[in-house]
Amino acid sequence: MTIDDLAGRLRTALGGKRVITDRQELRTYECDGLAHYKVTPALVAFPHTAEECAAVVRACVDASVPYVARGSGTGLSGGALPRADGVLIVTSQMRTIREVAPEDERAVVEPGVLNLQVTNAASPFGYYYAPDPSSQQICSIGGNVAENSGGAHCLKYGFTTNHVTGAQIVAPDGELVRLGGRALDAPGYDLRGAFVGSEGTLGVATEVTVRLVRLPESVRTLLAAFESTDRAGAATSAIIAAGVVPAAVEMMDVLAIEAAEAAVNCGYPAGAGAILIVELDGPAAEVDAQFDQVRRLCDDNGAFEIRIAADDAERALFWKGRKSAFAAVGRISPDYIVQDGVIPRTALPEVLHRIGEVSAAHGIRVANVFHAGDGNLHPLVLFDDAVEGEAERAEEVSGAIIDLCIEYGGSITGEHGVGMDKAKYMPRMFTDDDLDTMQLVRCAFDPDGLANPGKIFPTPRLCGEVPGRHKGAHPAQEAGLAEVF
Ligand SMILES: Cc1cc2nc3c(=O)[nH]c(=O)nc-3n(C[C@H](O)[C@H](O)[C@H](O)COP(=O)(O)OP(=O)(O)OC[C@H]3O[C@@H](n4cnc5c(N)ncnc54)[C@H](O)[C@@H]3O)c2cc1C
Repeated sequence: MTIDDLAGRLRTALGGKRVITDRQELRTYECDGLAHYKVTPALVAFPHTAEECAAVVRACVDASVPYVARGSGTGLSGGALPRADGVLIVTSQMRTIREVAPEDERAVVEPGVLNLQVTNAASPFGYYYAPDPSSQQICSIGGNVAENSGGAHCLKYGFTTNHVTGAQIVAPDGELVRLGGRALDAPGYDLRGAFVGSEGTLGVATEVTVRLVRLPESVRTLLAAFESTDRAGAATSAIIAAGVVPAAVEMMDVLAIEAAEAAVNCGYPAGAGAILIVELDGPAAEVDAQFDQVRRLCDDNGAFEIRIAADDAERALFWKGRKSAFAAVGRISPDYIVQDGVIPRTALPEVLHRIGEVSAAHGIRVANVFHAGDGNLHPLVLFDDAVEGEAERAEEVSGAIIDLCIEYGGSITGEHGVGMDKAKYMPRMFTDDDLDTMQLVRCAFDPDGLANPGKIFPTPRLCGEVPGRHKGAHPAQEAGLAEVF
């Protein structure tokens, strides 16, 4: 079946307006938030229902055409990068909130629903949806599920996987199936758990059941300025060591502060080498007691100025600089790479020094913004594409930072996923056997390898191929169609 035939079949299933094949229109979908990778898809389809989504996947399977799911396209690892020979299934028109059930702390939503819409729908009942990526105003729940997204408040509340109890998905053979349910635990293998974080490689989510969390009685936020990231890091460790679990502990270094000031004029304390934003939430009495403790610990670790948000407006101002940090670096650098890695929290000062050394050795500036509480770094590697060689040196710095994360026992990604961008780093973190085992899971869901191929794994293993040591070449290898890593 040609793409034209496929387009005809999909137009019959969805209606003409919801299938795009015009080259100019297709270009809108050529990248996600990682805009330096661009591929124009062969076709874009906009299902409105789970059944339509299943019909699109079935048509792709019948035509042996690969497909990629896309929510809002804000992903930062190229996960929703289309295939030139494939179909992009865009869920942004599946935006119905089916149910808000405060009585059992659940909401049931379609995959294109935006993260913040869930909280907006739940808040009149005194509830909210806890995982809060900085992109929460625009990213979709389907994308959150696929990336197992995190956010500033995941330190206390956990990641997306801790807030999704069930999903309906179109499995890669085109069948609609349910994983998990409304309960926190289901008998049998945790297929819901396998699906969350699978980056569109195990099927397309068409409905998601999420947990709702009671809005806290009290929220208190402070902003502490330190002369260095060392001191701010020490304060973070001291807070956690004291047994306090803040809702969020976020750090920005001097360059990130400079960028935020230039972009949103957030008025952070002058002369700060690092700032911490610490937020506590929960019952008022507990929050008040712990807040005093946190303030003391910041003082003890050298904070030279501590501001306490007097009201919601001031809290929003503290967060404004932090939440705009990625975009803000555009004010101080024409181009930048957003890196995402994890280290043990206690290694923060050492790793930041090492990042400083790598940055100096390459003549490439790095601004650091991160979820300090859980050691999730977001170094922003700044460069100017117009200067010859800078993009390459920035890539080297970015890769070296990932190597540091692995060296210190961390991870190549904290929340942005592997996608196509970090597939090359997977063998640095995992052995061949590890990768083989992961691909067995993928093959169990998707034996034809049509669901978001080319993502996560540096070289996809063929289904049916025995993991471990290989004797002789697979026929597909001999035909030059596949490699074995
Ligand atoms: C300014 C900015 C700030 C950000 N801050 C954060 C942050 O704090 N924390 C964080 O974790 N991330 C953050 N991100 C990254 C991004 O917003 C998240 O990864 C988000 O979950 C992506 O959602 P999306 O709807 O845009 O997904 P897309 O980019 O459209 O897709 C992402 C992945 O999900 C898959 N996918 C999408 N929908 C489905 C579906 N229905 N079923 C199966 N697979 C699907 C795609 O194939 C792709 O692999 C940020 C991004 C930006 C631009």
